[in-house]
Amino acid sequence: MHKLTANLSLCIAIWFLFASTTNYKTPPSSTKLTTVVKPIIKKPKLIPKPLTQKPIKKPLVNPFPRPVPILMYHSIGVKRRNNLFVAPDKFAQQIKHLHKAGYQTICFQTLEEHWKSGKPLPAKPILLTFDDGYKDNYTIAFPILKKYRSKATIFVISNFVGDANHLSQNQIKEMIKSGLIDIGAHTKTHPDLTTIPSAKMYREIFGSRQILTKYTGKPVIAFAYPIGLYNYEVVKATGAARYKFAVTTKPGYAHAKQGWLTLHRVRINGDLSLAAFTRMFP
Ligand SMILES: [Zn+2]
Repeated sequence: MHKLTANLSLCIAIWFLFASTTNYKTPPSSTKLTTVVKPIIKKPKLIPKPLTQKPIKKPLVNPFPRPVPILMYHSIGVKRRNNLFVAPDKFAQQIKHLHKAGYQTICFQTLEEHWKSGKPLPAKPILLTFDDGYKDNYTIAFPILKKYRSKATIFVISNFVGDANHLSQNQIKEMIKSGLIDIGAHTKTHPDLTTIPSAKMYREIFGSRQILTKYTGKPVIAFAYPIGLYNYEVVKATGAARYKFAVTTKPGYAHAKQGWLTLHRVRINGDLSLAAFTRMFP
């Protein structure tokens, strides 16, 4: 009996050893990962910025400002007293030509965005300006400008608003509403700013801006020197009055390097032929 039990125990031991060495299979690694090991989700570490890194500053002045023609008109009318009057049909032909030749009229704000921060300009940018704020700017020029969706800035003499020959407040408001016309200042009474007492000179420059801001409900950012006359004190006062641009009657395209408060313009006289105008702006 002892011998039989011993033999049986030996047989079981041999079988167990055999079975445990031959039938054991390692579970596939994938099963092991999904069933046994939980995946570890790593949280992104917060990497501190190096202390030496400087904040990125936008350039304040565009290093490549493009020069732009600023055309200077006065009256668009038939009562031709001097060559500052451009006949209505001639004016219409000029605006039509600019439109067909691919010029795009821009305002002073667009020029500021380009010169200051490098915002691109259209391929052929041009500014149209009218000095003195004559009534015919509304009755004759405005319908032509509307036809070609042309933008323009009218430099208004603030104390002359509502006169027989000058724009009224309502006409100014209507033109502003169109989105095509901006109003610039041209002093209160159109004096020679270089010869009047400095207190009066300041009142002319500051006062016209205040009045026209009220009439337009918009900031007035551009100024034109009466008769194109200015000196250092006048330019200083214009800057102090927070005008961003001021235009002169010096001939030529406007460059940022001329100084934003002493920009040149291209005078359009009444006796300029369409052929000459076309050659100037091909
Ligand atoms: Zn003037």
